Amino acid sequence: MLSYRHGFHAGNHADVLKHFILVQLLAHLLQKDKALWYVDTHAGAAQYALTDSTALKNAEFETGIGRLWGRRGLPKPLDTYLAQVRLLNSDAHKLRNYPGSPQIALQMLRPQDRMRLFEKHTTEIRVLQQNLGEDRRSIVYAGDGFEGLKAMLPPPSRRGVILIDPSYEDKADYKRTKQALVDALIRFATGTYAVWYPLVQRREARQLPDSLKLAGADDWLNVSLTVKEPAADGYGLHGSGLFIVNPPWTLADTLRQTMPWLVDTLAQDPEGTFLLQTS
Ligand code: SAM
Repeated sequence: MLSYRHGFHAGNHADVLKHFILVQLLAHLLQKDKALWYVDTHAGAAQYALTDSTALKNAEFETGIGRLWGRRGLPKPLDTYLAQVRLLNSDAHKLRNYPGSPQIALQMLRPQDRMRLFEKHTTEIRVLQQNLGEDRRSIVYAGDGFEGLKAMLPPPSRRGVILIDPSYEDKADYKRTKQALVDALIRFATGTYAVWYPLVQRREARQLPDSLKLAGADDWLNVSLTVKEPAADGYGLHGSGLFIVNPPWTLADTLRQTMPWLVDTLAQDPEGTFLLQTS
């Protein structure tokens, strides 16, 4: 029984990092006409109302997207991401809705592209399907994204962005994430993969980035954003990271220029920092 609901966290600092980079990956691969496949192994609901009681419970978006919204002088790559958030907010002054990863992809993909989504939570699946409407490019699979990914690869066009974004609610997710990447690379070595991971104080989480480096990819980039000092009680998310396989050649430079601004904007105490590593 899954209890994680992304609506409680939508638009937080981790979503900002993940979705800002997702927009960069998609924008880069959409420069060529040939069809692009977007696969999301852990899709969520695609759209989140920031005005409902779920989002307002801890109001995590206030220290995430809320700190970018309405700001002037953003670095261009962050403005490109913000433009995707604006598309879901008809009143440009008020931040009411936040797009999840499938919604961002839906907004960016072209008629020739395809989207394949996996979601396991029964309520989230229903909302996801409603939010996508009758989009003919997309298929939602109700089930396990780690398992389902194998059958999607390689995509017919041999061009793909794959987001692996578990909630890590289940400790086994750490091992399954690594294995999913290993299996995926055997089938589709040239795909662009983005694996999201949490910065939390548990051994499996601390080890995950290093273990992903051994998944079989020659070309990878690892970026993480710490927004605060780890809590004394040992609990909570103090940041997050993305491990990217076959990143666009421009991404490392983009992050070098952008991450310091993101740290200044999203840090919640003087411990805010970022890490950027490349293979
Ligand atoms: N990718 C989304 C985004 O960026 O907007 C957020 C996804 S959220 C972090 C993780 C989602 O995975 C949750 O909606 C959860 O119900 C779902 N989930 C958990 N285990 C799963 C599994 N094994 N396969 C597919 N979905 C799963």
